Amino acid sequence: MKILSVASEIYPLVKTGGLADVAGALPLALAPLGVQVTTLIPGYQAVMAQSGKARKVHGYADLFGAPARVLRATFAELDLLILDAPALFDRDGGPYGDSAGTNWPDNWRRFAALSRVAADIAQGAVKGFAPDILHAHDWQAAMAIPYLHYSAGKTIPTVLTIHNLAFQGQFDAALFPELGLPAAAFAIDGVEYYGGVGFLKGGIQMASAITTVSPRYADEIATADFGMGLEGLIRSRAGVLHGILNGIDTDVWNPATDPHIAATYTARSLPRRAVNRHALEERFGIDHDDAPLFAVISRLTEQKGMDLLADTLNDLVGMGAKLIVLGSGDGDLETAFLGGKSRHAGRIGVFTGYDENLSHLAQAGADAILIPSRFEPCGLTQLYALRYGCVPIVGRTGGLSDTVIDANAAALAA
Ligand code: ADP
Repeated sequence: MKILSVASEIYPLVKTGGLADVAGALPLALAPLGVQVTTLIPGYQAVMAQSGKARKVHGYADLFGAPARVLRATFAELDLLILDAPALFDRDGGPYGDSAGTNWPDNWRRFAALSRVAADIAQGAVKGFAPDILHAHDWQAAMAIPYLHYSAGKTIPTVLTIHNLAFQGQFDAALFPELGLPAAAFAIDGVEYYGGVGFLKGGIQMASAITTVSPRYADEIATADFGMGLEGLIRSRAGVLHGILNGIDTDVWNPATDPHIAATYTARSLPRRAVNRHALEERFGIDHDDAPLFAVISRLTEQKGMDLLADTLNDLVGMGAKLIVLGSGDGDLETAFLGGKSRHAGRIGVFTGYDENLSHLAQAGADAILIPSRFEPCGLTQLYALRYGCVPIVGRTGGLSDTVIDANAAALAA
């Protein structure tokens, strides 16, 4: 079976969160089952710089107003199609915004273009590649499904995976004429959404199957508390909605071989974690003593419950704990954690930024990881923690409640 996967980020080329981890790990996990995954990704600067020997397999004289090419390349065992569209993707900053974190104003065009190209490829635009299924991840790829739906000619079954319903790709109705969809698509059973255009909504409406990243989240998003306005539509599509728990890449995340940590270890040599703990404390300027060391590795947002944690820093330290925070996100939360660090020198350490290597050391060295999310589609950091012998302390929601159980007598006996 051949799958065309479409994603706006993929580890190890470009990552802002769990979507990249899954987009990068799933093809490798499916390969031994006879499923070949080819992933279409945007040609961001970071991707173009690393893509190496890519060859052109398709071209556009005018894709949303500028020329573009589709390149094929292999990177880290991943079979990739890269949308090289410099007018859309050749910019400094992150995949979705500038270096200050402000979203690009033309994100609708950037990801409509990615989706348009995905639909073309599903219909045979790349010679010699005839996918059986189109698999779109999140709102940035979701429009591939309406594009395919409204295209004349051959169509193939589609799967939409919702990694986080909070990000929906909602835009002003004024841009609808520029999407190149038939007028009939601007309707309640099309891409119209509360008077605007909804990219994710269109995908949910028309996908042959919908998955989300844990069984509990699949149930939650059908309710008003978690459905973010889409619960009615999601309920109407319940027959094709499946909650499938995310997995992790156990080679990338393996404490026995991890090159990013100070001392490798296994379940039989756990005392060696002390070396990592020491190295972690060193990196964060934390005292070396026996007090429990908690870690946060997270986007600093309200979704992740980081405001709740920021409010309890004095209590945490008062109870004798130490904390390291590796994260970036809301300015107010960064300030709150940095404030905690200056109030409690040696007890709280903060690194505001993104550091993949340090995230491995934190899992290998901390005693416990704190994940007090308000909602959590799946969550990967608790899974990495379980693999690294770092106790996950989590909110009982979504994928967190599907993957972490209390180590009480009943659970231990089971
Ligand atoms: P989400 O995708 O909602 O942010 P997940 O738990 O699914 O949450 O995935 C988060 C991923 O991003 C994990 O691989 C985690 O290790 C990584 N991560 C989050 N923040 C940072 C950071 N500041 N530095 C390095 N890695 C981070």
